[in-house]
This record gives sequence, structure tokens and C-alpha cells, in this order.
Amino acid sequence: MGNTADRRHALPVRVIYTGGTVGMLPGAGGLAPGGDFAARLEKALATLPADRRRTLPARRVHSYSRLIDSSAVTPLDWHALAEDIRAHRTGYAGVVVVHGTDTLSWTAASLALQLRAPGLPVIVTGAMQPLEASGSDALGNLEGALRFAAEPGLDGVAVYFAGRLLHGARATKEHASAADAFASPNAPALGDYRGAPRLFTSSPGMATNAAEPDDEIDSLLTRASADYERVSRGEVARIVLWPGIAAWQLSAWLEDSRVTGALLELWGAGNMADDPALRAVLERAGNRGKLMAAVSQCPRGSVAMGAYAAGQGLEQAGVLSGADMTPEAVYTKLVHLLALPLDNAARRRLFAACWAGERSEG
Ligand code: ASP
Repeated sequence: MGNTADRRHALPVRVIYTGGTVGMLPGAGGLAPGGDFAARLEKALATLPADRRRTLPARRVHSYSRLIDSSAVTPLDWHALAEDIRAHRTGYAGVVVVHGTDTLSWTAASLALQLRAPGLPVIVTGAMQPLEASGSDALGNLEGALRFAAEPGLDGVAVYFAGRLLHGARATKEHASAADAFASPNAPALGDYRGAPRLFTSSPGMATNAAEPDDEIDSLLTRASADYERVSRGEVARIVLWPGIAAWQLSAWLEDSRVTGALLELWGAGNMADDPALRAVLERAGNRGKLMAAVSQCPRGSVAMGAYAAGQGLEQAGVLSGADMTPEAVYTKLVHLLALPLDNAARRRLFAACWAGERSEG
């Protein structure tokens, strides 16, 4: 392991530029993703003090031909990105994915679940300000991400932002404009960068509770028969409950035959209105094999379905507990399971398993 890690450390970091504010340039219609990212990155890194420049890992930039604002990302992009990273693992110390911040945590969660322990660090980063803007956070985020991507002790997907390294499947964007925009509400940071990268976890994996080495999950996720085209057409709905939600509204989502799964965001510890009509809609959806999982609308803590009488109907309808996962992690897990040619029982069993430290409870 020591030798492998040493050999890996001498290799370059692969930088994948997908778009986002970090690389945007002003145009007639406002900010839009700009090209020539490799040269612009080198120019920015050249402004670092000499001692910091000297210790930077070598890097090779790969810019996607379709550069996007991350609001345009779909599950097809998550899948293609994971395939790209898998196919180009050898010859690199690690990977930096440069991404727009708006859906960065969705891509990071999806990559963490798909790649699990790919054998190298995959660091997802972006910035709230374009690289060339004065006082931009972009250079700091890119420098830190490059350094963590060259850390031989890391294996898995993490988000690097504003000095902190967060678990890829635990991170969420919690501020619309501040530089320190990301947090992992239910998991401690994995590390930080204050002049040097510091890892808080002594375990080689990214998982806060180590992913079970489960070959079944890895072999399923690399199946050519997975249908991401289909799940990218909106098959999984995200439904955030509100006071007064009516059965016809829930039914408009769940009884549409195109919807095959749903993330439900409940009150507090997993509560919903004690309304037989709402429960009946959920039960019908469950009986039709729709894969449904629930989390709390509170960013911190876990759902414990069945704690309140009103919430007990959820379990009876077959709604799975998303425990303390982020909505991003639950949603992307449902998408990956529904893209695979599995039966409902297998999907339910695999949803409850921990793939990459995305949940605190089994
Ligand atoms: N709209 C941008 C994006 O997500 C925002 C950003 O990168 O900060 O692509």
C-alpha cells in the first residue's frame, strides 16, 4: 500500500472542467461558461507565492466540449462523468472535477455512490466567483482541490470548498452567495486546508462509517444495461410536503405512470399529516412498486418513521427510511437503483445498504 501510494503521488492530477461560475466569462447575455480553462488555470496558479507553486501537483486539464451551467446537469451527466473517471484512473494521482456550485452536491453524491472506492481521490470543486473576478474564491478552491487530489491517503469522492474537505455524499449547498457555501450537516468535515492539506480521518476511505466492501453493488453499478436515458426523463420526483398538502396534489405526482420513484421530504423526525386520503395515495404507489424514500426537511438529524402515529402509515405504504442522508444522496441513490434492471425487492434491499458512507445507520 505504501509503495502504491508513493507511486501515485508522483503522478499528475486529472482536472475535468465541466463549466460553472468558476470558469465563466462575461458576455452580452451575462456570465456564460468560458473556454481555454487549462491556460486560465495555469495563469491563475502562477500568481501564487513561489513556495506554494513549487509544491503543487502536476495537472492535466480535460475540458468537456459541452460546458454548462450546472443547472443543466441531468442523471445522464452523472453517469457519463463516473464512466469517464473510471476509464481514466490509471496514470493519475487523483481527479479534480470543476463544476458549477448550484448542483455540485448532487453530482458529488451521485459520484460518491457510483464510484465508492475508486482507488484514488476524486475532489469536486467550483467557486462562487469566476476565476478572473477580483477577490474570487476560485483560485483558493482550485489550489486546495488539487492538493487533496494528490493525497495518497484518500480514496473516494469528496467536495473541497472554502478550506474544507467534505464527504461527497454528505455535502449540500447551504448558502446562495457566501464563499463558504457548502456544509455536511450530518457528518464532520474530512479535512481542511490551512497552508497544508490536513486529513481528520485516519481511515484510507472517504466513508465516515466505512462502506462495506460489497462486490454486488460495484458490479451492478458498472452494468452496461443500466438505463440512464430513461431515468433522466424525470422518473424520480422530489416532493417536499407542506401544511395542507392534499391527496390530489400528491396523487398528481405519484399516480403518473411515468413516475417510478420519489423522494419524500417530511416534517421533523419523519412525520406527515394523519390524513387517510394521503396515506391511500402512498399505499397505491407502493403497491404499484414505486420506489419511495423519505428524509426530514430539517437539514440535521435523522428520520425515525413510525415515531408518531401519523407517520406510521408511511412504513405501511412501503416508504423507505432515508435516515440522516441528504436529499441529494437519497435522490441520486433512487435514480441509480431505478436505472438498473433490478426487481423491487432487490432495489429496496440495496437502498437500505450503505454504499459509501452516505448514511450513519446501516
Ligand atoms: N449557476 C452556476 C452553476 O451552477 C453557479 C455556480 O457555479 O456558482 O453553474
